[in-house]
Amino acid sequence: MKPRIAIFSLTGCEGCSLAILELEDQLLAVLDAVEIVNFREGMTERAWDIDIGFVDGAVSTPGDEAEIRHYRESCKVLVAIGACACLGGINTLKNHQLAAEYRGYVYGERAAWFPTTAARPIAAVVKVDYELPGCPMVKEEFLRFVKHLLAGRQFRLPDYAVCVECKKRGNPCLYDRGVVCLGPMTRAGCDAICPTYGSKCEACRGIVSPEALAAAALNLRDQYHVPQEEVLAGLRLYGAYQEEKLP
Ligand code: SF4
Ligand code: SF4
Ligand code: SF4
Repeated sequence: MKPRIAIFSLTGCEGCSLAILELEDQLLAVLDAVEIVNFREGMTERAWDIDIGFVDGAVSTPGDEAEIRHYRESCKVLVAIGACACLGGINTLKNHQLAAEYRGYVYGERAAWFPTTAARPIAAVVKVDYELPGCPMVKEEFLRFVKHLLAGRQFRLPDYAVCVECKKRGNPCLYDRGVVCLGPMTRAGCDAICPTYGSKCEACRGIVSPEALAAAALNLRDQYHVPQEEVLAGLRLYGAYQEEKLP
């Protein structure tokens, strides 16, 4: 029997779910090996006996919390896809503001109709088996992950920083232009796409480890006079939860 797959979305732009559809021909090859039984972006049927469930979006409302518990109960393997699901993502920017202010700004007079909570990664609410980070997640990494899982092989994210991929591509370092780039502490796997196109890394794939973050922050302070507060402020864009990982 083919593994039964579901793709769910909580609070986010659903860009990570869409990235799966963007795989096009490669997705068709995967579809030979699996059965998609629940995917709001791509079908109307709904089934709840699921082998592997992928979830994008953060837990950001009481409704999200109920949904992610339901997904966890329904899926043998639960996979967080994208920065929102893995880190809280852009949604966590509201965690640094007064609820009355951002709720009024977003919902106006109808704010009471839309209950909201602090934004959290899904692992803050339920057990998560795997995480595929990025904003959006890297679709080639998703494909590699599915192939590993179907073959019964162990899947691991890269355990080194974006700088490694950046150097391999021969990019000039943005620090030489005085730009604060978060590549030294950010998990590789995106092929350093942002610095390759001249933009700083903003750590959408999260940090490699608390130790890597601490070491990189010290190095940036000593070598380029970047205050640690500036590094932490940068990391806040995709997930305030990363700050808690600082040793
Ligand atoms: S991680 Fe980025 S692309 Fe994915 S759902 Fe969140 S905001 Fe959208
Ligand atoms: S540009 Fe950024 S990612 Fe590239 S080597 Fe410099 S610090 Fe690292
Ligand atoms: S370079 Fe940094 S911000 Fe850009 S995709 Fe990679 S991890 Fe995300």
